[in-house]
Amino acid sequence: MSIFQRTTIALARSPAAGRAMRAIARRSSLARRFVGGASVDEAVQTALRLRQAHGIRASLFYLGEYVADPEAIEHNVSQALAACRALRQAGLDVHVSVDPTAIGYMHSDALGADNARRIGLAVQEGAGNGCDWMVLDMEDDGIRERTCDLHRNLLQSAIPAGLTLQARRRRTPEDLAFAIGQRTSLRLVKGAFPERALDHAGRARIDQAYLDTASIMLSREARASGFYPVFGTHDDRLAGAIMDLARGRGWSADEFEFEMLYGVRPDWQLALRGLGYNVRVYLPFGADWWPYAIRRVGESPRNAWLLARSLTSDGRYFG
Ligand SMILES: Cc1cc2nc3c(=O)[nH]c(=O)nc-3n(C[C@H](O)[C@H](O)[C@H](O)COP(=O)(O)OP(=O)(O)OC[C@H]3O[C@@H](n4cnc5c(N)ncnc54)[C@H](O)[C@@H]3O)c2cc1C
Repeated sequence: MSIFQRTTIALARSPAAGRAMRAIARRSSLARRFVGGASVDEAVQTALRLRQAHGIRASLFYLGEYVADPEAIEHNVSQALAACRALRQAGLDVHVSVDPTAIGYMHSDALGADNARRIGLAVQEGAGNGCDWMVLDMEDDGIRERTCDLHRNLLQSAIPAGLTLQARRRRTPEDLAFAIGQRTSLRLVKGAFPERALDHAGRARIDQAYLDTASIMLSREARASGFYPVFGTHDDRLAGAIMDLARGRGWSADEFEFEMLYGVRPDWQLALRGLGYNVRVYLPFGADWWPYAIRRVGESPRNAWLLARSLTSDGRYFG
């Protein structure tokens, strides 16, 4: 991990820095760059603009992870439910991403599962176009098994639930085996929670693991079961290899999608749309934007300038 990354992680964890930055959020180009709005309504407006201007779809995510306080948990759940209602009203995909540690799993598994079901049922209401999903994010390894179990249970109740899997983890092919024969959506990412003992070692090996997993997701068996593959990456080399794989296996461009974080590589998002591929952005919203935004800065030293500009100017991406 670079010094730049270590510094931004320390800033993300600093309550004092968070308080100071949130106080000037209205002026911060950093928040505008990576966060779709402070409220559900603002986030839906951003999603509408992306859809109408660029044909880019969105998955809304309310910022607030690792909470154990029942009131804070209920607040997070109510925001996800409000997002489902507002997306439906706006005629957009009812597509939300959810962290299990944000909706109850830090309190008790029963509360987390109940709340996931509430959100899943809100997504399910009227789902029919195949684009409405509640996708479970994958957090650290302490919650991986429970997240996979939750996904299975939701599918058994016919709730349109998707799951995120991390290519860096050596055991991902085992977690994938269950999902591949199901009518579900699986989002493959490289993984943001490194654990040396559990992971493939080194960037090249992780990229290879990503492609090996993508190959299974694009298998004929997966296609026959109605499985919907999602490739969550900003890596254009990987995307190119996935396009070749998909073409060779007979998948058309509208049978899978690429998903990226709002504000990251917007040029590449537009280029993929121009090539006719489905593109979705993971669109966070809420007041607690500092830890999320500063983590995005840490992922690329090219973002360092954003930090400097964030106190002074008014940045917006995608016009
Ligand atoms: C939709 C989505 C959902 C995700 N959900 C999860 C999850 O549930 N669990 C989890 O562990 N991880 C999740 N992640 C994060 C993921 O695991 C990676 O850490 C992250 O996407 C970076 O990997 P990459 O595939 O983009 O490849 P990289 O090799 O990191 O990046 C590829 C290219 O994109 C550029 N890039 C990457 N990030 C940035 C940035 N912030 N700013 C500017 N350029 C950048 C790089 O510089 C490089 O040129 C998610 C990512 C996405 C896109």
